[in-house]
Amino acid sequence: MNTKKYFILIILMSLSFLILAQKSEIVTTEKEGNIIHFHFNNPNPYPISVLLDFTELKNMTANKQIPFKVVLKANQSREKVITITPKNKNSHSYRYTFKTMNGDCNKKHNEKYAYRLPFEKGSKFRVMQGFFGTFSHQKQHAIDFDMPIGTKIVAAREGIVIQTKDDSNKRGTTKEFAEDGNYIRILHNDGTTASYFHLRKNGVEVKVGDEVEKGQFIGYSGNTGWSTAPHLHFVIYQNSFEKAETVPFLFETSPKKLEEVKKDKFYTAF
Ligand SMILES: [Zn+2]
Repeated sequence: MNTKKYFILIILMSLSFLILAQKSEIVTTEKEGNIIHFHFNNPNPYPISVLLDFTELKNMTANKQIPFKVVLKANQSREKVITITPKNKNSHSYRYTFKTMNGDCNKKHNEKYAYRLPFEKGSKFRVMQGFFGTFSHQKQHAIDFDMPIGTKIVAAREGIVIQTKDDSNKRGTTKEFAEDGNYIRILHNDGTTASYFHLRKNGVEVKVGDEVEKGQFIGYSGNTGWSTAPHLHFVIYQNSFEKAETVPFLFETSPKKLEEVKKDKFYTAF
């Protein structure tokens, strides 16, 4: 390779790095004289919401109500501009902060949604622990299904895969192992997220950005992370800019019958 070609290659490589780096920034500003325009970018293959606020806005006004909330579609860039302008010629300054969350911040969990049992048609499993179970669900609306490692898991509800982990083979009976659990997280159209937890190593069969149907095979159960026995931990989170909280949900346990599943009862998927 001659020097000139080599040089051009280096420029191209650094340029593409720069573009990537810019693309990953969620809030960017642009100056037009004394006016500041804010742009919002979502580098993720799923929707997110952003909350922009100012910790300082000295002698400047915004053209939108602040704090400013915006919902960004998957892979959306330079959207929804908010502008701040100096009030007069006196000195002015600003400082901003922002928070993000997965999904649409204006939506709430549809509590009447008929969740499907998250395993294959015809298979039957026992609930080991239900909502606020005394063993480990004291603060959670979560369900544990007793099932052998390698049981096929299907989506309880349609949505977009937003996070997965399946590189862990670690398990323990104390809290320090909580981070070692493999999982799939799926974002629903009401802004909630389902988490399918404790999956086996290499047990994830979907990838981030995939749109999955209700009942679609997504992976294999396991016994990774903070766990005492093989099971599937299933939970729905209401996302927010602060802390995501679990919400109650109903399974369709037989045609048109919606119920909260209970500890020690068996349920058959249909
Ligand atoms: Zn659990």
